[in-house]
Amino acid sequence: MTPRVSAKVETFTESVIREMTHLVGARHGEAGINLAQGFPDFAAPQVIKDAACDAIQKDLNQYAITWGAKEFRDALAEKTLRFTGLEVDPEREVTVCCGATEAMIAALMATLNPGDEVVIFSPFYENYGPDCVLSGAIPRFVTLHPPDWSFDPDVLAAAFNDRTKGIIINTPHNPTGKVFSRFELECIADLCQRHDALVYTDEIYEHMTYDGAEHIAMATLPGMRERTITVNGLSKTYSVTGWRVGYTIAPPDITDAIRKVHDFITVGAAAPLQEAGAVALRLPNDYYRQLQAEYLERRDLLLAGLEEAGFRVYRPQGAYYLMAEIDHFGMGSDVEFSRRLIEEHALAVVPGSSFYADPALGQTQVRFCFAKRRETLERAVDALRSAVTA
Ligand code: GLN
Repeated sequence: MTPRVSAKVETFTESVIREMTHLVGARHGEAGINLAQGFPDFAAPQVIKDAACDAIQKDLNQYAITWGAKEFRDALAEKTLRFTGLEVDPEREVTVCCGATEAMIAALMATLNPGDEVVIFSPFYENYGPDCVLSGAIPRFVTLHPPDWSFDPDVLAAAFNDRTKGIIINTPHNPTGKVFSRFELECIADLCQRHDALVYTDEIYEHMTYDGAEHIAMATLPGMRERTITVNGLSKTYSVTGWRVGYTIAPPDITDAIRKVHDFITVGAAAPLQEAGAVALRLPNDYYRQLQAEYLERRDLLLAGLEEAGFRVYRPQGAYYLMAEIDHFGMGSDVEFSRRLIEEHALAVVPGSSFYADPALGQTQVRFCFAKRRETLERAVDALRSAVTA
């Protein structure tokens, strides 16, 4: 019988991140603790919630311009200039999408042909794999090595060839918390220039860096602006993951292509939320300083709790995740460990293997998300302490 589902989709497995969220909710309801999926369990800023309500009341309830409300694109150009020094043309270089997730796939579909190769660092955020399949491209994985999640420049160079169309980078990095250094970005930039390749750079955690690590936007490197597609969104910086407002910043010819893909996939992102998004993007520098300080506290709380409980942790320099080793507890593989945590301790984390091209490399690791209230993190640490000493 002819299969009813496409060959592309047959290669997909359910998102493990979302499966863990679902499992802890189904099994424990409100009592469950979710350090699996990366979203805050605290409120979004009042001023942007008010702006969203106002926009709806003012009847901004019909389609915005498909590639993004002018107000939002203008605010984004201002913010990009403020934080990176780059002058972006809001008319020709910005596309507003339904979350960074759509922004990434629209960027890939707009630029890739079947058989093109895309370099991806592993471990990686799980969507990039299916994104490549959907756009017909072949991923070429390059391993990041703990403890600092560095790559071997020779291995990276060997991953580039005549078929390489681009590289996906994510800095600050999910799941490891790595912040790519200027030296590393220059090494990537050099290869891209030599092979005429694009960079798809997911910078959604740009405002979360710790211990003096500095976020460097790929587009700011010499010669890179014209070959960089920056993917970003409101979700993490403004604690509104459910709004689904993301965007790309790319040179005009590529933006033109992204806008066409975006228009046919989703038409446009929610109009009133783009209006509120413009308010968010214009928040003063203090907002970003405070966000960072609060995330640093959350990171330190979880880091200390895990270390005290006997976990071997990789100290994240950015983003809001933490990878830890679990092998020495003798509680089985990452998947077994994670399932037991949910079953017996009402706590969800993500098995490390789901982030790796070669799952064996992640079998001794799990990922914790620390975008959570102090009491959630404290409850999680208590649960973990009893789990590993049981
Ligand atoms: N980026 C978040 C994570 O890694 C959320 C993923 C998602 O469910 N879209 O957990």
